Amino acid sequence: MTLGIIGAMSEELEILLKDMIVEEKNTKANMVFHKGRLWGKNVVAVVCGIGKVNAAICTQILISEYRIDKIINVGVAGGIGTHIYPGNVVIGNSLVQHDMDTSAFGDKIGQIPRLDTYDFKCDAELVKLAKEACDENKDINSFVGRIVTGDQFVANVEKIRWLSYEFEALACEMEGGSIAHVCYLNSIPFVVIRSISDNANNGAHMDYQEFVPIGVKNSTCILKSMIEKM
Ligand code: SAH
Repeated sequence: MTLGIIGAMSEELEILLKDMIVEEKNTKANMVFHKGRLWGKNVVAVVCGIGKVNAAICTQILISEYRIDKIINVGVAGGIGTHIYPGNVVIGNSLVQHDMDTSAFGDKIGQIPRLDTYDFKCDAELVKLAKEACDENKDINSFVGRIVTGDQFVANVEKIRWLSYEFEALACEMEGGSIAHVCYLNSIPFVVIRSISDNANNGAHMDYQEFVPIGVKNSTCILKSMIEKM
């Protein structure tokens, strides 16, 4: 079994790459794919860059060229709702692209036209493993729910209220929904694990700067316990 691990930004994979025994490094589409062993498993780890297009290209390369069996996306996200704080972890059980909008034709916002699903469901087994890993770590408060994705850094109270109302989402970010989309098209099990770096409100960019390091520490810690159990 080979696991694909995607982070959008170099800081999100920094700790993990230090632990990895890299056997092969290849650059494709301007992304560096690290193939090797991590915490006892065969892994290909890659920083995909920010946004849906980067994430989609990266996911398809992992599937088509590296023949990975499962994908885990780790990183940071904006928290949605009053009960989710920076440092908390949201494990996605379903992903929707909040910026997909063909509502002029009567479609629900987020629905990709002519696709037979509205949301992209994360693999139940991977979600369970991630949740168990969180529950074992008493310092980490975790939630399981929907994560929404769009090519926007959300830093606006109105927008988070809308994301909550429209999608019942717990977190927003910029890659998970497109990784999920590519995995769905290729029938590859996946999960998205995000640490909250900000509350997606006015001033989110300030919290973001402060909390990214804590978020990365938390998500890497969970990933490690999870991978060791696989
Ligand atoms: N100039 C910044 C841009 C960061 S974009 C930089 O280069 O660091 C934000 C990244 O963190 C994306 O990868 C996204 O997935 C995640 N993210 C964190 N908080 C977010 C929010 N409030 N809205 C959208 N994405 C967010």
